[in-house]
Amino acid sequence: MRSRAERVKRTELEIPTGRFIEIRVGPSCRVFHVHEHTLRASSTFFDAAMSNGWKESRERVVNLPKDDPDVFAKYVFWIYRNQLATRTTYDNWDYEDNPEYMTLAELFVLGEKLQDASFKNDVVDAITKKRWLEGHQICWASIGFLSRYLYKNTVSGSAIRRLLVDVCVEFAEPDWPAKWAEQKVMTKDFLIDLSIALLRQRVAAADEDVSPPGFLCNNCIYHEHEKGTDCTRR
Ligand SMILES: [Zn+2]
Repeated sequence: MRSRAERVKRTELEIPTGRFIEIRVGPSCRVFHVHEHTLRASSTFFDAAMSNGWKESRERVVNLPKDDPDVFAKYVFWIYRNQLATRTTYDNWDYEDNPEYMTLAELFVLGEKLQDASFKNDVVDAITKKRWLEGHQICWASIGFLSRYLYKNTVSGSAIRRLLVDVCVEFAEPDWPAKWAEQKVMTKDFLIDLSIALLRQRVAAADEDVSPPGFLCNNCIYHEHEKGTDCTRR
């Protein structure tokens, strides 16, 4: 068994106290008991639900029938441990099947619903840390599924949408959009956001580069005539 005898300062001794509330999650109503004070301090959603007068605050029960109990369990773990239990046993870098990104995306979406900014910040930090510090690539297929999920479940301007677009601008390959379209995961809004980000990058680069664009230097790339023959239109 793993030893967890890590010592911390005595001043760090803090045990959640107070009353529990019951949260029933998913269609099968999986039950979680969480300290009310701890939950309300982190989540604006639960704070509002438990405000005086509401049915939930009288019965001390909150129902989340449409949410996934496995995803919610990870949120409860984070509430108490301040850690994200998302790592997979096989999470090789540059490997097509990289499920941790999707798990983190699901957690972010839950964080939006529960209005827990600190949790969402931890999730986006986990994604950037995984991508940049630990060198875990996101393959074209993963990004396709991630974009479809996130653009269906978040609103315009959401931090995780911006992060996904920035990741694509940084390292996506030119043939990826066609693959996403083939896979039927391409969403219009993702494509628009990605186009805007790429154009902004080009505009920023053009401010520094004074040379004329390629199409002004060589119109022949649009002509129809035998390859290798001299262009007669110059
Ligand atoms: Zn030509």
